Amino acid sequence: APVIGVLALQGDVREHLVALAAADAVARPVRRPEELAEVDGLVIPGGESTTISKLAVLFGVMDPLRARVRDGMPVYGTCAGMIMLADKILDPRSGQETVGGIDMIVRRNAFGRQNESFEAAVGVKGVEGDPVEGVFIRAPWVESVGARAEVLAEHDGHIVAVRQDNALATSFHPELTGDHRVHALFVDMVRANRTAESL
Ligand code: GLN
Repeated sequence: APVIGVLALQGDVREHLVALAAADAVARPVRRPEELAEVDGLVIPGGESTTISKLAVLFGVMDPLRARVRDGMPVYGTCAGMIMLADKILDPRSGQETVGGIDMIVRRNAFGRQNESFEAAVGVKGVEGDPVEGVFIRAPWVESVGARAEVLAEHDGHIVAVRQDNALATSFHPELTGDHRVHALFVDMVRANRTAESL
């Protein structure tokens, strides 16, 4: 089974570990460069993107992470994790950096105060069957994507799921629903990449 890390600096790490295990991956927390070097793919969880960014720099994993993403390691970011994968943030806080990897501009907390948290059915390209139950918690949306990024889902006319090559990002949190189809999609991406690398 592929070994998939969850960046464990802040955020809903445990829920992703559970969802990945349910999707038949070997899941483990990643905090240090040595741990990052041992995984076939990585999830960046939801939480607070400025905090994750600052801790990633502090723990010395920001640059190794950028290097691995540039080399094509599959990576999946939810919510704050989506923000971390954006090449550009519309309204970054001071000291906030991203890993990048997806040519998109994200707007933090885009769905607003009134609806800080809501759920909605979201059809996701590549996920068969019923729409996914999208859990949005002070969620970002994607303002715009570049030519290489593929939009996988929209909600209310706003982009909420994107894929570019081996990088996947959702505004919402499939790890909180018990429906592991989005994680299964990511595990498939990791498997396909392992196969390609061993050829
Ligand atoms: N609003 C948070 C941020 O900007 C993201 C919220 C979440 O991950 N649930 O990082």
